[in-house]
Amino acid sequence: MNIRESVKEKKRIVIKIGTSTITHAESGNINLGKLEKFVRILVDLRSQGKEVIVVSSGAIGIGKNVLRLNEVPKDLPSRQACAAVGQGRLMMIYEKLFGEYGALTAQVLLTKESVSNEECAMHARQTFHRLLSLNVVPIVNENDAISADESSYGNFGDNDTLSAYVTMLVDADLLILMSDIDGLFTDDPRQNPDATFIHFVETIDENLEKMGKGAGTAVGTGGMATKIKAAKLATECGADMIIANGDDIHNIDRIMNGDDIGTLFLAAK
Ligand code: GLU
Repeated sequence: MNIRESVKEKKRIVIKIGTSTITHAESGNINLGKLEKFVRILVDLRSQGKEVIVVSSGAIGIGKNVLRLNEVPKDLPSRQACAAVGQGRLMMIYEKLFGEYGALTAQVLLTKESVSNEECAMHARQTFHRLLSLNVVPIVNENDAISADESSYGNFGDNDTLSAYVTMLVDADLLILMSDIDGLFTDDPRQNPDATFIHFVETIDENLEKMGKGAGTAVGTGGMATKIKAAKLATECGADMIIANGDDIHNIDRIMNGDDIGTLFLAAK
C-alpha cells in the first residue's frame, strides 16, 4: 500500500490546531466560521469510526481579547489570567459547536508533570482512554493558568510538544499538526526563495533537525524546531505525524483521503 493511502486506515488521531489557525489575523478574535468547519470535519471523522483527540491552542490569545487588552501581557500572572479567561471561552464555543451535532466534549488540561510523573501519567492515560470509550472528544490544552517554566509543574511551552505527549498517552496512530505553513522546507521559505518542500521524512537525523529553524509566528509559540521535536517523539511512539497548513481547514479531509498534503513523518519501526 502506498504510504499516503495507509493514512486512510488510521483509527486514533490527535489533531493539533494553533492559535493562528482558529483566530482572525487582524483582530485576534475567534474565527467562528473556521472553527465550525473544523468541528464538522471532526464529527465526520467520528462518523467514519475514527477516534479524535483535539489539542487546541488559543487560550491566551482569546483571553487577551475577551479582557480587551491590546497585546498578550508580558508578566506571568496577567498572562495566566488571560489563559484562565480564554480557556473557558474556547471550551464554551467548542461545546456549542460539537453539541450542534450531539457530540460530547471534555476539557483536559495538562502540565509537564502530567507526563513526567509516572503516577500522573497513568491517571491521564486512563482518563483519556475512558473518555474515548465513552465516545467523548477530548479537547486538550496546557494548563496555562498554573503551569510556568519556573513552577514545580514545569511547562511544555508550546502545543506542538504537548500534542506529541498526548499522542503517546492515548496511543494514537496519527498526529496532525495544523500550522501556519505548508510543512517542512529545506530552509525558511519566508527568507530563502530556493527552499524546497519536503513531502516525506523517513528518519529524523541531525541534518533534518538543523533545517527546523525556530521561527515562530506572532500569535503561536511553536516554530519548526518544536515541530521536529514533536515529530521525533510521536514517531518514536509508533505514530505517523503530518504537518499541514491550517489556512485551509479542509486539508484535514484531504489528508484523511490519502492525498499528498503537508509533510509526513513516518512512524519509527
Ligand atoms: N497553550 C497556549 C494557549 O492556549 C498555546 C501554546 C502554543 O501556541 O503552542 O494559548
